[in-house]
Amino acid sequence: DRRWAKAMEMVKEMQEKCGTPIGKLKQVADAMVVEMHAGLASEGGSKLKMLISYVDNLPSGDEKGLFYALDLGGTNFRVLRVQLGGKDGGLVNQEFTEVSIPPNLMIGTSDALFDYIAAELAKFIAQEGQEFELPPGKQRELGFTFSFPVMQTSIASGTLVRWTKGFSIDDAVGQDVVAELTRAMKRQGLDMRVSALVNDTVGTLAGGKYSYKDVVAAVILGTGSNAAYVEHAQAIPKWHGDLPKSGEMVINMEWGNFRSSHLPLTEYDHAMDNESLNPGEQIFEKLISGMYLGEIVRRVLLKMAEEAAFFGDIVPPKLKIPFILRTPDLSAMHHDTSSDLIVVDKKLKDILEVSNASLQTRKVVVELCNIVATRGSRLAAAGILGILKKIGRDTVKDMDEQKTVIAMDGGLFEHYSEYSKCLENTLNELLGEEVSKTISIEHANDGSGLGAALLAASHSLYL
Ligand code: ADP
Ligand code: MG
Repeated sequence: DRRWAKAMEMVKEMQEKCGTPIGKLKQVADAMVVEMHAGLASEGGSKLKMLISYVDNLPSGDEKGLFYALDLGGTNFRVLRVQLGGKDGGLVNQEFTEVSIPPNLMIGTSDALFDYIAAELAKFIAQEGQEFELPPGKQRELGFTFSFPVMQTSIASGTLVRWTKGFSIDDAVGQDVVAELTRAMKRQGLDMRVSALVNDTVGTLAGGKYSYKDVVAAVILGTGSNAAYVEHAQAIPKWHGDLPKSGEMVINMEWGNFRSSHLPLTEYDHAMDNESLNPGEQIFEKLISGMYLGEIVRRVLLKMAEEAAFFGDIVPPKLKIPFILRTPDLSAMHHDTSSDLIVVDKKLKDILEVSNASLQTRKVVVELCNIVATRGSRLAAAGILGILKKIGRDTVKDMDEQKTVIAMDGGLFEHYSEYSKCLENTLNELLGEEVSKTISIEHANDGSGLGAALLAASHSLYL
C-alpha cells in the first residue's frame, strides 16, 4: 500500500545517501592522508590531532618483571597484572579483572571517577598472593591505558584534551590524568607509580608488536574508534625535541575526529551529532564505531514509523528513546540466519515492544542494519588505506620481504562479523590482489593492557 511504498522509498534514499563506492573511499583515504600531514605539521593544524605518544621504541620481547596495567576507555575498565619472563621467557603469567563504570561517574567529577578506579585497583592488589610481594622500597609500576585524547608531555604525563564516547567530566579537562590517578591512589594508600601513559591504540600497537614483528599500526573499533601508527621522526615537523635514537615515533591519530566533505553523512547523522554530548566532534567515529551504529538505525526506524507507519498506526514509544537500540542488538539482528528471522522478531519485541512485525518488516530492519554497518566498515577500511598510503605500504617494493600487520582490537570488530568481514573485503578491494597479500589484520585481543604493561616495563625506574 501507500505507506509501505513510502517506507521503501525512505530505505532506498538511506541506501543511496550511505553509498560508499570505491572511488569515494579512495577520496576519503586521500583526505585522511592530507589531514595526517597537516596534523603532523603543526599543533592544531588539522581536525586530526596526530598526538605524539613519546613511545619511540616498541617492545623488544626482552622486557622482564612484574608489571600492572589499568585500561580506562569505555564502558568497562580493566586491571591487569603481567609477569614478563624476559628474553625467550615470554609472557609467564597474566591475570585481570574487569569492572563496569557506573554511568553517573562518567558525567560526575574527576575525583569521583579516579577514586573509584583507584579503589578497584587497591582491591585487586589486596587479593593477590604473596608471590607478588615486592622487595621493601620497591614500588609497583603501572602502565595506564587512557583512551581519550591526551596531549602528552612525557611518556608518563599528559593533559586531557576532551572527553569522548559519552564521558563528560568538566573538571578533568586540561588536567594531567596521571597526576589525578596518582593522587587517587595515594588517597587509597596504594604505593604505586605510573610509568607509562598510553592511549589504547598505542597500547594495542605495543602489545601487537610483542606477537607480530611486522606490526606498523593499530586500530580500535569498539565503543569508539581510533588508530595509531609508527611514523618517521623526521616526518613530524611539529616535534621540536631531539630526534629519538630509533628514528621513529608512535603517533596517536585520534582519527575519530576526522571529517571530510567526502564522508557520506545523512540527515540522521546530522541530527544525532547535534543532540550528542560533543556536537561537531568525532564525526568519523560517529559513522563507524559501536556506540553509534545502533542509534543511527533507531533514528531511521523512528522516522519510518512516524512518516510511513512502518510499525503500524502508532509509533512504538520505546523507539523514541535515544540509544535504546544498541550495536550488539544490531549485529544480533544482522546475523539472524533463521528463515523467519526469529532473532529480529525477538529483538523488536524485547527492545521496542513491537509485536507481530511481518516478515517483510523484519527483512527491512535487517536491510537497514546492513546499510549502516556496511557504510561504517567500508569507511573504516578507507581510513586504514589512508595510513598505509602515508607510510608507503599501499604498494609493494619487495614481494618476498614486505609484510605489513595491522593490530586490531575492540568489541565491534571482534563480535560483529558482518562488519569485520566487510572491512577486510573492502581493504582488499582497495589495495588490489598483489598488495593485499602483504597485508594482514590481526586481532590483538585486549592487547592494549599487555602493551601498556610492556611500556611500563621499558620505562621502569629499576632497569
Ligand atoms: P571499549 O571500546 O568500551 O573499550 P570494547 O572494545 O570491548 O570496549 O568494545 C565494546 C563495544 O563493542 C560496545 O560498546 C559495542 O559497541 C561493541 N560490541 C560489543 N559486543 C558487540 C556485538 N556482539 N556486536 C556488535 N558490537 C558489539
Ligand atoms: Mg577499549
